[in-house]
Amino acid sequence: MLIQKDNHNCDTGSHSSINSIDWDITLVELSAGLAQLLEPGRDGRTVEVYPRRLRLGISRLAAAMIRAGARPIYSIPDAIRMLQEPVGRWDVSPRPPEYMSATTLMDGEYITEDADELIIDNPDISGELTQRIMLRVIENCRVRGDQEGYVRFRGFVIEHPVASQMEFIKALNSLGDEDLRTLLNEAYEEVPNPPTSGEDISICERCGWTLPRVLDRNPSRCGNRRCLQLDGVQSPRFLGKRSWEPGLRRVKTGLARYTSQPGGLEMRLYGSLAELKQLRVELWPGYDAYDIGITFPDGETWAVDCKDSGRPELLAALLGREEFPMSGSWQRAFYVFPDYRRELNPQYGRIIKSRWGTDGRAASWRFDDEFLRMVKRRIRETGHNA
Ligand SMILES: [Zn+2]
Repeated sequence: MLIQKDNHNCDTGSHSSINSIDWDITLVELSAGLAQLLEPGRDGRTVEVYPRRLRLGISRLAAAMIRAGARPIYSIPDAIRMLQEPVGRWDVSPRPPEYMSATTLMDGEYITEDADELIIDNPDISGELTQRIMLRVIENCRVRGDQEGYVRFRGFVIEHPVASQMEFIKALNSLGDEDLRTLLNEAYEEVPNPPTSGEDISICERCGWTLPRVLDRNPSRCGNRRCLQLDGVQSPRFLGKRSWEPGLRRVKTGLARYTSQPGGLEMRLYGSLAELKQLRVELWPGYDAYDIGITFPDGETWAVDCKDSGRPELLAALLGREEFPMSGSWQRAFYVFPDYRRELNPQYGRIIKSRWGTDGRAASWRFDDEFLRMVKRRIRETGHNA
């Protein structure tokens, strides 16, 4: 999931001259600021002043409005009204890039999936919203050369959005390093508002987390946008129960959002690939350079990065701007999208295709069911020679 980009260090801003604006950076900044403002507590703190990133993003926005000859926004409430509009409707100069124009950052009192995706794709920013826990885990494991520890840690966080005392202790014991154990402790918190013993807590059956946010008049639904969208294509079986027991804990908000929930696709695909006996399958090679590495019996290696996006235009544009990591270590590279995106939007594949271009990109793309079929076919074809 983590893609390194060279131009997303939002702290500097030194490269943008007074007359220009990097819209990519500004939109990521605004998204992160909104996330901190609207969901205090996702990073364990409450917001006492408007988040720095939000203020920074808004100042850039105001400057762009002045350049366009528009009346600039004067207050944060003004800005928030503007942020509920698609980027393409903003009266700013220079104009945001075309592929961003349908992007909207806020919907009512929540940040949108667009905003979430911009955050997820920027490790520096999502790291900030998760107390940098996953970044510190990568650092810890890399220094000690412990790829296995990294896979255990990340795998546990994805597979256990909620964990019992026993599960948690078992996971702690499986980690060889004291600092890594401390980080796992830091990643989890007690389930808030525990019921009395013997009662149940409500769990979202899609993302596995405690029902995180209550949407108006529909208190039994998960507020996670992806879970809500899935109601459209899967049976609406979103409410689960888990009996309360002392020591039950959940992964913290930011990690739930930016690690556990997006991690479902890569774990599912990994599970299906790992069942194919002749493959060697590896999760998060190179400390998360990409999601899955596959080695066929004849030694050919494929690299996979899973991307779950509700916005194929934006996704194709963003992927077109980055290099697939660790070239040289694989023969073929793929971005894999969950097939439910195609069910939600039958035009999904066509939109990606039309924006992908033929400019010699190293990586291609597939939906996960197609990808799996392709892997099986290659095993059959090479099996004779292997
Ligand atoms: Zn959910």
